[in-house]
Amino acid sequence: MSKKLLKHVEAITCHRDTALLDKSVVSSLRELLQIEEIRLYDVAHRGDDALIAMTTWSDATGIHCRHDGLHDDDYEPVLNHPGIAACIDANDKVPGDAAADARHQLLMICVDRKPIACCEITYPDTPSPQQRDLAEGILGLYRNYLSLLEDSQIDTLTGLSNRKTFERSLARLLVDEGVRDNGRENERRGSGGSGEENWLAIIDIDHFKRINDHFGHLYGDEVLILIANLMRRAFRQHDKLFRFGGEEFVVLLRGVSYENALGTLERFRQKVAEHIFPQVDQITASVGFAVIHPQDTPNAVLGHADEALYFAKDNGRNQVFCYEKLIECGKLPKKMLHTEADFF
Ligand code: GH3
Ligand code: MG
Ligand code: MG
Repeated sequence: MSKKLLKHVEAITCHRDTALLDKSVVSSLRELLQIEEIRLYDVAHRGDDALIAMTTWSDATGIHCRHDGLHDDDYEPVLNHPGIAACIDANDKVPGDAAADARHQLLMICVDRKPIACCEITYPDTPSPQQRDLAEGILGLYRNYLSLLEDSQIDTLTGLSNRKTFERSLARLLVDEGVRDNGRENERRGSGGSGEENWLAIIDIDHFKRINDHFGHLYGDEVLILIANLMRRAFRQHDKLFRFGGEEFVVLLRGVSYENALGTLERFRQKVAEHIFPQVDQITASVGFAVIHPQDTPNAVLGHADEALYFAKDNGRNQVFCYEKLIECGKLPKKMLHTEADFF
């Protein structure tokens, strides 16, 4: 058993990606406990409300994961699951076992006393104390490793995901979309498909250097934190937000039309322009965005969004431009020779 257990510990801790980590934990629980019914939920917090969505689960047919396809609509109020709600309310011990009936084990995964995930295990018969302890141990390992992983993925100043995480997310999105695209070759492509695409937007604060020069670095830092907060409010739960570096941010907008992407980014730009920043008062930001085509390389997508951003900078700042539209109307030359300053 101990050799088998060590193999699972090794398998769980070899991942650098949350989706793969979750799959690995569910797979280990399934094998070690010899059970099929396991559900792993993500717990999100909006204001005072907790929302949950099932991200990874095991059933008679195998292990399933829908991390990347998760939409805002998939999150439901935690009150729909009274057991989990009671567990969160009770601020249960870490990880706490809070299931009401004997065939059920409910384990909250808390980091810094905040519930971030929940695991629900259904046994065919009443589990032995050893089985319950084993599940608790694996979930404890999962919590500690998840917390480490999240620390390494977060930009410490703004709390947004960092550049390294962005690189992984974009590379994975391109691979996933490439696989999906092969399956529906004729259906998609340009305006011939549903019109819904994935987009990459780069947001760059205008004249940020002046803010540092006039008010000092600390006020500059505060602007970055407040911009990240405005981003969290302007974009949806399933849009991915990153601090790319310095005063540049990146957003991955998934499965939306050009009009929707433009509308969302425009609204964000306006929110920034209207916001009153302490001491600094008003600032603006420029945005460039581009389609993420499955056949593109990460550098090509970033290069396109960057060209649109620099068009905005060269044409008055405080604007949003789309690379493909600039090409379409001849404002950018069709084939640009990138100076391939390596983004990655
Ligand atoms: P533009 O409108 O063309 O984007 O001009 P800009 O001044 O915003 O751009 P530039 O690239 O000239 O300057 C960016 C500045 O961002 C320079 C650097 O000192 C500052 N910066 C980078 N990282 C940080 C940070 O973490 N905190 C603070 N306060 N400043 C930073
Ligand atoms: Mg910049
Ligand atoms: Mg700037």
